Amino acid sequence: MSFKKFLRIVFDRDRYDTIDLFQEFPGLKNFFKRRKLHAFVRTIGDLAFTFIILAGLFGPQDPKRNCILYLSWGLWWPTIVLSWFFVGRMWCGFCPFPGVGRLVQSLGLNLDLPVPRFLQKNGPYLSVILLCLIIWVEESTGIKESPRGTALLILSILAGATITAIFFPKQTWCRYLCPMGRLIGVGSTLSMLEFRPDLEKCKGCKSFACKRGIDGRSGCPVFLGAFSVRNNLDCLICGHCLALCDKNSPMLNIRSPFKELLVNKGRFITCSYIIPFLMGSQLVRFFEESSYAMTVANGSLYTMLVYSGLLTIGFFYVHFMIKLGARFFGITEDELFGKFSPMVPIFVPMAFAGELAYRLDYAVRNAPYFFPTIARQFSLDFLNFLTFKIPSWFFPAMNSFIMASAIIACEYVLLQMAFDEFEGLIAKWRFVAISFLIFITGGSYIFLMV
Ligand code: SF4
Ligand code: SF4
Ligand code: SF4
Repeated sequence: MSFKKFLRIVFDRDRYDTIDLFQEFPGLKNFFKRRKLHAFVRTIGDLAFTFIILAGLFGPQDPKRNCILYLSWGLWWPTIVLSWFFVGRMWCGFCPFPGVGRLVQSLGLNLDLPVPRFLQKNGPYLSVILLCLIIWVEESTGIKESPRGTALLILSILAGATITAIFFPKQTWCRYLCPMGRLIGVGSTLSMLEFRPDLEKCKGCKSFACKRGIDGRSGCPVFLGAFSVRNNLDCLICGHCLALCDKNSPMLNIRSPFKELLVNKGRFITCSYIIPFLMGSQLVRFFEESSYAMTVANGSLYTMLVYSGLLTIGFFYVHFMIKLGARFFGITEDELFGKFSPMVPIFVPMAFAGELAYRLDYAVRNAPYFFPTIARQFSLDFLNFLTFKIPSWFFPAMNSFIMASAIIACEYVLLQMAFDEFEGLIAKWRFVAISFLIFITGGSYIFLMV
């Protein structure tokens, strides 16, 4: 692989060029193809996951004596958020949540009912509602300080995935309902990795084994199949279809992280709801941790009500910015690809950065206490020395840097949309007005962070 080509692609100099990692590194392809190897890595994740649940439920409930809090909120979730950019939705290929459902199905204990049309049609809305619920619970109930609460939250997602697998085929939960999957999918639209078919090789394929399965082996767990993957929203990058395709079609491409944003232009309903909610909730989360917020005990009814109100305000604030930006942009429909929402792709980098900053802030702030917590939990006193101090200026500096980079990325997407994708159609004053909105929104984050 030419490093120069890699840099040109990743830095968006050759936006529509890609490098197929399966071709460059056949070992990687073998890893995905040999399902046993893949399953082995997944099993390690399952064991860690089981430890977190058991230690959360039955271990010490003092947050200073139970390391599962940091493992879940400080390591697991921030790592997933960071992975959106580098490997897209690949986490889903190793995710432990569908494991029990898969076992139930392999034992033939499921009902295998057809997926209702209601679910297919309204899945995006339902998963966004579930995501709102999770963020609301996370922030207003003090669950991050409760090992049992954290374990119960994880168990509730596991229960959702398992019950859905009992009633419906394959990973219906992952395709239509999972709030995490929905969020990861939207975040992955900004990824430098994509899983795609080589459509030339798919031409004339009669088996469509990637979707339907073949020789008793089931097809894609989320009813897609490599040939129909056009974006990063739904494909789990589980690699299951690799072993099914005899034409060597699936590719794992390095690409420009801006490519999908500019091609799709916020046409998907999922993004239209997730982005304003996610950004609104981030502003509220930063507000809650800022010096402007009143200190109210987490978990009180008052906090829950105040938090619900703030989330609603946050959602409508960003929604308003998106609508206003679309007005400034002036074009929201194209004869080639229909209606679109120009501010959604422009804001995706900020939504990603906001989530990353929020999660990293927690991860870094609590890192010094991780080993001492393990020391207390398992009486391993020698681990006590593994602690360190982080100067208080570090957090606003880190968060501001992340958000400033996001503002630059948003501006870049806007620039490409206004002067490349819609060349000659967007007046300069419109560009300036939208830039102003980007600065106000990004500035709101920085104001609340420092
Ligand atoms: S969609 Fe949800 S449950 Fe399914 S693999 Fe992804 S994160 Fe896990
Ligand atoms: S990915 Fe393979 S199995 Fe699927 S349609 Fe293309 S050639 Fe056929
Ligand atoms: S298209 Fe292939 S990689 Fe994507 S979810 Fe389906 S089986 Fe997995």
